[in-house]
Amino acid sequence: MKIAVIGTGYVGLVTGTCLAETGNDVTCVDINVAKIQKMQAGELPIYEPGLDLLFHRNISQKRLTFTTDLALAVKDAQIIFMALPTPPGGDGAADLSYILGAAKDIAHLITDYKIIVNKSTVPVGTADKVSAIFKTYTDIKVDVVSNPEFLREGVAVDDFMKPDRVVLGTTSEHAKKIMTELYAPYVRQGNPILFMDERSSELTKYAANSFLATKITFMNEIANLCELLGADVDAVRKGMGSDERIGKRFLFPGIGYGGSCFPKDVQALVKASDENVYDFKILKSVMEVNELQKTILVDKVITYFNQNISGKHFAIWGLAFKPETDDVREAPALYIIKALLDNGASVSVFDPEGMENVKSIFEDKINYATDQYSVLEGANALLIATEWSVFRNPDFEKMSAIIADRVIFDGRNLFELAKMIELGYYYNSIGRALIE
Ligand code: NAD
Repeated sequence: MKIAVIGTGYVGLVTGTCLAETGNDVTCVDINVAKIQKMQAGELPIYEPGLDLLFHRNISQKRLTFTTDLALAVKDAQIIFMALPTPPGGDGAADLSYILGAAKDIAHLITDYKIIVNKSTVPVGTADKVSAIFKTYTDIKVDVVSNPEFLREGVAVDDFMKPDRVVLGTTSEHAKKIMTELYAPYVRQGNPILFMDERSSELTKYAANSFLATKITFMNEIANLCELLGADVDAVRKGMGSDERIGKRFLFPGIGYGGSCFPKDVQALVKASDENVYDFKILKSVMEVNELQKTILVDKVITYFNQNISGKHFAIWGLAFKPETDDVREAPALYIIKALLDNGASVSVFDPEGMENVKSIFEDKINYATDQYSVLEGANALLIATEWSVFRNPDFEKMSAIIADRVIFDGRNLFELAKMIELGYYYNSIGRALIE
């Protein structure tokens, strides 16, 4: 099939590449000229494991091309995917200007029937709004399909190639048939394609992300309570997770959820609820608790240094909002850095992939190290903000020689408590006994 993908971010580029991988002819469009030039030159603009192989293979086999020319991309496309940003607007509601603007542009360009698929996370009613735009600006028939994306950064290629489910919101029988054919290669193992109406499909994405954010937040509160009650959150987590109704996944406590999705999606669902005079109390608490959790490590640091960290120097391991991505949007590390700087401390950071993105935020306000050991030089303590595998089993001898005070605040519970006792560290983690 001939496909256009509008927007080449984490979702659009993975979608376009993975659709090309099953033999489709895909043209990806973006307004970011530098990004398109980079991809035309065969360079990936993001870090996403496994993407480079598929990206290069499909470019060389001419199934995957990049352009800034929307008209060129939509001309022959049977299906047009929109993978555009839906950032929070000033009032917390999702900003639909990218989606509605692109819909209007496409409406002016098309000369025959198209299926318009929305992959962005959008409020309920957006498919209706997009359909209305097409009706206003063209006589050409289109079917607008809601197809929320559930991929996770860091494992996005796997998630796209073998999704747990594909959700398709449409009442058009023709669109159903075409979309079923398009997705057939991805659900061969029997995972479902779930057809539903557009509004239910749109809400499914917000409900899923908000539920996951709630699950994380619940565990963060259990962890905070563990510290006060002298319980161990690892034991509690395993005890809870063995119950199949709860499940083992997503029960790891930490320093709050971040990323480009959970914070904005929870906020957008709360906003949509408020607009419909529904007080979504749980989600409001989730947002409130998460705000506090993002800087809980800094609170611990300040307590340790007798309420004064002015002039102290801190090393941070991990900047990305989670491992295996370079995405630092809404990453807890950013809040930690800001809180440390606001309290008069200085900061050195290291992340395997997120350095460039953080440089554009903090510029020369912090120091950027080249590896996980040199970042420790001169630090009064190490703070761990992302659970990259490379941090899990460090050379403690090397570390201890650099960081004389042996003080670690671990927001991701990377190390065994017994090991830290043996090594003689002060080790303050989340929901577990304090080692001093
Ligand atoms: P992103 O910010 O990484 O990428 C968006 C891209 O769209 C950018 O490259 C931008 O230049 C481009 N763009 C903006 N306006 C354009 C226009 N008019 N024409 C062409 N390109 C344009 O965003 P993302 O992370 O890929 O997210 C896209 C959507 O998917 C959002 O609604 C998000 O909530 C949702 N989503 C994201 C993820 C994720 O893990 N990132 C997962 C599921 C769903």
